[in-house]
Amino acid sequence: MGTTSSQDFSTLNQPNIINYHKVILFPLPFQGHMNSMLQLAQILHSQGFSVTVLHIRYNPPRPSDHPGFDFHPVDVPSPVAELEAVEGDTMALISLLNVTCVVPFRESLENLMGESSDGGDHVACLITDICWHFTQAIADEVGIPRMVLRTTSIGSISAFSAVSRLQKNGLLPLPESQIEEVIPEVAPLRWKDLPIVPTRNPKDFFRLLADIDRATKACAGLISNSFEELEEVKLAESRRSIPIPFFLIGPFHKRFPSSSTPVAGKLLQDQSCIAWLDKQSPKSTIYVSFGSIASIDERDFLEIVRGLANSGVPFLWVVRPGSVRGHEWLVTLPPGLLEGKGHIVKWAPQREVLAHPSVGAFWTHNGWNSTTEAICEGVPMLSSPMFGDQRVNARHVSDVWRVGIHLEGLLGRDEIANGIGRLMGDSSSSKEREEMMKRVMDLKMKVDGCLKPGGSSYKSLQKLTCYLFSSCQPEKL
Ligand code: UDP
Repeated sequence: MGTTSSQDFSTLNQPNIINYHKVILFPLPFQGHMNSMLQLAQILHSQGFSVTVLHIRYNPPRPSDHPGFDFHPVDVPSPVAELEAVEGDTMALISLLNVTCVVPFRESLENLMGESSDGGDHVACLITDICWHFTQAIADEVGIPRMVLRTTSIGSISAFSAVSRLQKNGLLPLPESQIEEVIPEVAPLRWKDLPIVPTRNPKDFFRLLADIDRATKACAGLISNSFEELEEVKLAESRRSIPIPFFLIGPFHKRFPSSSTPVAGKLLQDQSCIAWLDKQSPKSTIYVSFGSIASIDERDFLEIVRGLANSGVPFLWVVRPGSVRGHEWLVTLPPGLLEGKGHIVKWAPQREVLAHPSVGAFWTHNGWNSTTEAICEGVPMLSSPMFGDQRVNARHVSDVWRVGIHLEGLLGRDEIANGIGRLMGDSSSSKEREEMMKRVMDLKMKVDGCLKPGGSSYKSLQKLTCYLFSSCQPEKL
């Protein structure tokens, strides 16, 4: 059961205690969260830890894809009626799972701790998705430190805290007339950027946020898939309001070649788009994708079609099956509308696409992975956030890092065509594009630097490794 890492530890200034070396991970069962946790698992494995992944049977990972890790299902009694009642309501589902998982999770954790005291690997730490707030009390009972993984930006942590505060102060929901106004305490976020997730019972949503906040403040540290140079201000703010150690060791995906990034998704990447991109001119094309969850209605789809066609810019567009509500895949279009103007696929090798020389811009929903993948390849963005923290990320893209244009929720053909034109630097906006390109290339260089020896994420991972080897003793920091 020992670990098999080829990592040279001599550079890590490791403490003498090396008998704690298993981490138990507990991902949230949604693709983006699961992928990030599995990437973290791989990073920690490369640092010399053995990895056990506890998971529920809802959207489970595929153990065969990750032969280096142990997988243990947590046997949640299948609450069919309750699950049906929250169908499609992610927040309600997370709230429900935080209740139904308590007993089986405690049992699984106790079993693993039992194996450990019977001569197995010593358990250094439990690392759960930040949303599994119930696990803090169990970790305390069982006597194991718990850290949390925040799979998105640090900025979204302060935005979620702001939602809680504003709600407590009776300021939510805000009248429609004020949604464009900036909120001074979280500027440049506007009211419409708050990560409020639609759910059938808003009271439960606010309770969930408060529970997550409380459990995070009580945990042994926070690991983030971000990097310090990108979020210095938000990091300082978050450190003040959540006084626990923060380890920004991202962007995770840059630590893996694009072909070997651990993923939990089911859709096959359509490689035809690379051959198609090979035929386009340098920086001529816009890549369009709204991630793995978001869906749009038929009207939006048709506006996107007209907007893309009217922009005159070649496009590569990912339309996931089922992502246009009420349709299996594409909506039938008038003949000739898009022919010869672009290429549509069901799922793309996104990282390869963004790194392709023909791609000049990315129209995105600003999921955190897509946002960092674009920054890492120096690609400016057109932002159409759909929900949750995507809105926070999009505002940072346009107003803080200034590496993109925000569509401000307008999915009209004219706004789309104008936005694409500006982003691609049509005759009236070439200076705007030039400046955006300078800024995004500057961020790209910072990412490259943060992962190299001596860089911020590199050093953070060294610290995290020592901290975990010491079973989270603060004096080891
Ligand atoms: N992705 C991909 N191919 C696609 C569309 C998306 O590989 O055609 C990947 C993308 O590279 C990213 C992830 O799916 O790593 C989407 O994550 P993100 O956080 O951006 O959004 P979410 O899917 O969670 O809304």
